[in-house]
Amino acid sequence: MRKFDVAVVGSGPSGASAAFHLAKAGLKTVILEKETLPRYKVCGGGFVYRGRKNMPFDISEVVDIEFNKIDIYMGKKLHFVTERKEPIVSLVMRDIFDNLIVKKGQELGVELIEGCKVTKIEKKDDVVELETTQGLVSAKYVIAADGVYSQVAKMAGWEKDTRNLIPALEYEIEVNDADFERLSKEIRFDIDAIPAGYGWCFPKEKHLSIGVGAILKEDRKIKEYCADYIKFLGIEEIISIEKHGYQIPVTPRLDGFVKNNVFLIGDAAGFADPLTAEGISNAIYSGKLVAEAIAEAGDDSEKAAKTYTDIIESTIMPELLTSMKLAKLFYSSKLIRKTLMKNYGQRFSEAMTDIFMGEKLYPKDVMGKIKEKLKEKMVF
Ligand SMILES: Cc1cc2nc3c(=O)[nH]c(=O)nc-3n(C[C@H](O)[C@H](O)[C@H](O)COP(=O)(O)OP(=O)(O)OC[C@H]3O[C@@H](n4cnc5c(N)ncnc54)[C@H](O)[C@@H]3O)c2cc1C
Repeated sequence: MRKFDVAVVGSGPSGASAAFHLAKAGLKTVILEKETLPRYKVCGGGFVYRGRKNMPFDISEVVDIEFNKIDIYMGKKLHFVTERKEPIVSLVMRDIFDNLIVKKGQELGVELIEGCKVTKIEKKDDVVELETTQGLVSAKYVIAADGVYSQVAKMAGWEKDTRNLIPALEYEIEVNDADFERLSKEIRFDIDAIPAGYGWCFPKEKHLSIGVGAILKEDRKIKEYCADYIKFLGIEEIISIEKHGYQIPVTPRLDGFVKNNVFLIGDAAGFADPLTAEGISNAIYSGKLVAEAIAEAGDDSEKAAKTYTDIIESTIMPELLTSMKLAKLFYSSKLIRKTLMKNYGQRFSEAMTDIFMGEKLYPKDVMGKIKEKLKEKMVF
């Protein structure tokens, strides 16, 4: 049996970030990853500046294109543009982006075991034993960074899933030169490209990443909406298309993030933003927070659990809870969305951009104000 201080299950941005910071703090750390790296991950790959500016190393070598400007549309008539000095969104391909974080951790001593699926975990006295497709591993702490379908969370005792998972499609599309030239100039979000959700068109180095997400609830017509959105963008010729679908947890778990020395981070914990479904930045941030909590607590597992829980409750959770309320208000009624965007579209876009930049947090008292403004402006 191979023994470590910490076993991190999953090498996505959350797990790779946790492993990096654990190794930096001198802990013997292993990443157990079921795939072989670099592995594909269904994702638009839009990394917002609040995440990028806190990276402990430069990531420019894996950025396809960066945008200092974003374009938010609602139908054909409403269009809002925001601009900042720094890149608001950096577009990455997740296989090489995630792999870079893993490599930076390996330079600090992280061990990576690939093709290694964790199939069972069991707490034995003071350690957790993990059965994997590559044999037994034991560690004082386990970090579940195994994504939205986290089996580790289930195995560790989170039997009922309290997160809200939403479906999202992401198509990698190669278009003709004229369409690429036209659509690669901007990073665009189209509110209402799908009922109660949005569509996006992100230009990568040689293709477009186009997708839709139904933010509030499952929508069986999501494939039709995505096809309609591609038409709406005026794409004339599709040279090649790769279709992917996956889920995003847009609400956090309500029954804690630590059980029996197992810590949840990233999508396994449900840390994607409820309003935008943007998950990479909180995945990376939660990886850093869990590493710091464990490093500070040493062998005291109760202290590690309390420190991690407290820091999540005071940093990520208040943001997610406000964003959840806003998402409910924004996506539950087309009339509300339209009224808000028609009257305050630019302000809304600027406020969201400030959040993407990490310059502002979600305003806690905003719900009452929005409701008042809506009463003034809405015509029933
Ligand atoms: C269509 C779509 C578009 C998106 N677009 C964006 C975007 O543009 N910007 C953004 O910020 N967010 C986006 N997201 C969300 C983002 O992809 C996630 O929030 C993010 O990947 C979460 O990272 P993670 O490290 O928690 O999990 P993941 O990235 O899912 O990594 C989990 C890892 O665990 C491994 N694993 C799973 N089970 C096991 C096991 N039993 N044993 C060993 N290894 C295991 C997996 O192979 C995987 O490598 C999008 C999501 C979807 C579905």
